[in-house]
Amino acid sequence: MNTLTMRAGTCEYPVYIEKGLLKNVPDTLKKMFPKSRFAIITDDNVNVLYGQSVTASFEAAGLRYDLLTVKPGEGAKSADVFARLLSALAQRSYNRADVVVALGGGVVGDLSGFVAAVFLRGLRCVQIPTTLLAQIDSAVGGKTAINLPEGKNLAGAFHQPSAVFVDTSLLQTLPEPDFADGMSELIKYALIRDADMFAQLEESSAVDADSDILSSWITKCLSIKRDVVAADEKDTGERMLLNFGHTIGHAIERLCAEKKQPMTHGRAVAMGMIAITAASERMGLTKTGTAQRIVAVLKKSGLPYDISAFNKDEILKGILVDKKNVADTLNLVLISEPGQSFLHRIPGSDAKNFI
Ligand code: NAD
Repeated sequence: MNTLTMRAGTCEYPVYIEKGLLKNVPDTLKKMFPKSRFAIITDDNVNVLYGQSVTASFEAAGLRYDLLTVKPGEGAKSADVFARLLSALAQRSYNRADVVVALGGGVVGDLSGFVAAVFLRGLRCVQIPTTLLAQIDSAVGGKTAINLPEGKNLAGAFHQPSAVFVDTSLLQTLPEPDFADGMSELIKYALIRDADMFAQLEESSAVDADSDILSSWITKCLSIKRDVVAADEKDTGERMLLNFGHTIGHAIERLCAEKKQPMTHGRAVAMGMIAITAASERMGLTKTGTAQRIVAVLKKSGLPYDISAFNKDEILKGILVDKKNVADTLNLVLISEPGQSFLHRIPGSDAKNFI
């Protein structure tokens, strides 16, 4: 088993990574929280696949629990569902000693984390991420949120989990498009910080949930997130490196949503990474041939990379209205070659050159 220790301010928590780990979770929880009751929050898809075995293992360990389910998909990150979950905890007289267990992808993780942050001004929470994206990204870092009609993630809180359990065997049931979406973020981590991992991605044949190397890559991604976030506490702006491919990616996502042809986040980021790298290659900021190397890796996961079908002016408009692009300056994340990323600030008026 790989174990990482995450730090956020004065708080520390373990992340356990192992294939088949799920069955051991109740024993670990019993040691960590001997007197607690557990509110397991999951979505209907994950419940059908894993609900029964998880509740059976909680019972076998003698843990008191409630299973609360929500509908799958982004719609569950709503104020209504959030309020319903808070009421469910209140009706069952949950108290400050009790624990929320988030069993699911990023949606369940964000929603349950926010429920834990708010109920009785804060319950402890453990995360059991079941999608690749949640395992390498959303389950750690303590960002929790729901959406408002006015926009995504507009209400939320920072609430660090007490522990994160990453069982890579859960990815075997993940639909291929969701797995590919997670691969896009995994490739992003390699590109910003880990040349060896990128070389492994180049050498490997198509990667799937059964690939033995997956656990080691997930561990590497989580270490990179830990290091980048820790460095940012000293206000170096390092955290922005995690947004590689996101400036153009977000604009593409928004454009597709407006046209009612939704594009998943991972696919938009894949296109964003290629677009920005091709541009920085043209400007001599990135080693020639890098974009082509990334395309070859993205192709193995069936990810898109070509943005030529999109209208450049529309993408540009999308970039300039993004709330993250502060004032007139754009903070671009570029790579000089795979594994080496850096921040490049440009005036908004130069953005066109990068698309
Ligand atoms: P998701 O949670 O909607 O899961 C995708 C789909 O896979 C769902 O239909 C779900 O039911 C299903 N599923 C989950 N695990 C499964 C499994 N093991 N087998 C079969 N099906 C399974 O989507 P996601 O991509 O995991 O997360 C997206 C969310 O994460 C977004 O809301 C985004 O805002 C959030 N996010 C948060 C952070 C953060 O730092 N908190 C970071 C990135 C993304």
